[in-house]
Amino acid sequence: HVFTKEEVHELVEKENVHFLRVMFSDLFGTTKSVDLPVSQLDKLMNNKMMFDGSSIDGFVRINESDMYLYPDMSTWLVFPWGEEHGKVARVICSVHMTDGTPFAGDPRNNLIRVLDDMKKAGFTSFNIGPEPEFFLFKTDEKGNPTTEVNDNENYFDMEPADAGENCRRDIVLALEKMGFDVEAAHHEVAPGQHEVDFKYANALEAADNIQTFKFVVKSVAKKHGLHATFMPKPLSGINGSGMHTNMSLFDKDGNNAFYDEKGELQLSDTAYHFLAGILKHARALTAVCNPTVNSYKRLVPGYEAPVYVAWSASNRSPLIRIPDDRKMGTRVEMRSVDCTANPYLAIAAILEAGLDGLRNNLTPMKEVTENIYMMTPEEREAKGIEDLPSNLHNALKSLRADEVVRESMGEHLYKNFFEAKTREYDGYRQHVSDWERDKYMLQY
Ligand code: ADP
Ligand code: MG
Ligand code: MG
Ligand code: MG
Ligand code: MG
Repeated sequence: HVFTKEEVHELVEKENVHFLRVMFSDLFGTTKSVDLPVSQLDKLMNNKMMFDGSSIDGFVRINESDMYLYPDMSTWLVFPWGEEHGKVARVICSVHMTDGTPFAGDPRNNLIRVLDDMKKAGFTSFNIGPEPEFFLFKTDEKGNPTTEVNDNENYFDMEPADAGENCRRDIVLALEKMGFDVEAAHHEVAPGQHEVDFKYANALEAADNIQTFKFVVKSVAKKHGLHATFMPKPLSGINGSGMHTNMSLFDKDGNNAFYDEKGELQLSDTAYHFLAGILKHARALTAVCNPTVNSYKRLVPGYEAPVYVAWSASNRSPLIRIPDDRKMGTRVEMRSVDCTANPYLAIAAILEAGLDGLRNNLTPMKEVTENIYMMTPEEREAKGIEDLPSNLHNALKSLRADEVVRESMGEHLYKNFFEAKTREYDGYRQHVSDWERDKYMLQY
């Protein structure tokens, strides 16, 4: 629903809104926000809110820095917690140039552009259901995060309420008050680790939801004196945090295009082609879906994270799983994605990879039903099972060689992304760590 000016003014009155949190995302998926007093509402809704684009990572140079924030009035939401003077409302914006054209370096605009390709292919919705995981850490006297988790519980544990459980419950309550349809919230495998699943939505709304979700989680954790982090692998030796991404396409009649009662495994040709596209582009997609040095510390054997490019309907070791749910719930689950991914870029890239499979009638490799982790490299090779990139450098190399995934970002975003991420990896490469000193200092 796109709120009209009259409706918004009424809601401001009714809910005692005093501030507007105007949100957009930079290249890295970091939410940027400008806080405006509610007196600026009309200016915002008239697309007159200017800001300095040169201060945002991956946006523009100083000499072309004036940009405008156009609010998407379907994203109007009031945060459920009260502030000193009144409540804060969220509005998500698109970034526009002074001449009114959408700015190509805005990841949200880019996703809107890519969704047009989906419509051209005859679909009405690219449904995304995310399963974000995060850790809650205790903070020190200064409020800085420690590496001490706040509980010793485990997957689905039902122990007496601890700080983490109370915090997670408050997160769920806040999300529900904001209209999120929370489907599940549970403790994860590692101590201090949690997962909250909310209902799938069309790509743009889903990406907006993911950004808002991260903000809500961090805000509520802070109120509990905890630090929430979406960093993929904060602690060695225990599971990392991912964001399994469930997806499907709906057609013009509102049917799930991945479902076919008569198809093999009750999956349609559309599902198989789309799946084949993702598998074909999987290595390049990793650069976008796992864009930090730390992402690759999660994608290792032994911690329930995918390491190999394969799919299965029956086991959870491959990159892609087809959950055992049919009709409207028929979906493809991509298990590599983590929360450091810019959701606008990641969803656009996955969509283009899938559409490439459809356009070219690609057929996926055979389903892998055995545990891939138990296979020898030779056995994997014989079955055509590739490795996912083992580090950011290799992922970026795959991205550079993949025109479909590059095109999903557009020239401006791709160029800035590639340069920034190459710098990030170079910085890491030059750093000598404790692990190396422990390993080599005495031995050599
Ligand atoms: P898992 O079994 O992997 O733990 P969850 O039950 O935690 O899965 O999460 C499933 C996710 O898939 C939810 O976000 C749900 O809304 C989403 N989902 C359900 N049906 C569809 C669909 N047709 N397309 C995309 N996502 C879907
Ligand atoms: Mg889950
Ligand atoms: Mg589940
Ligand atoms: Mg999980
Ligand atoms: Mg899952």
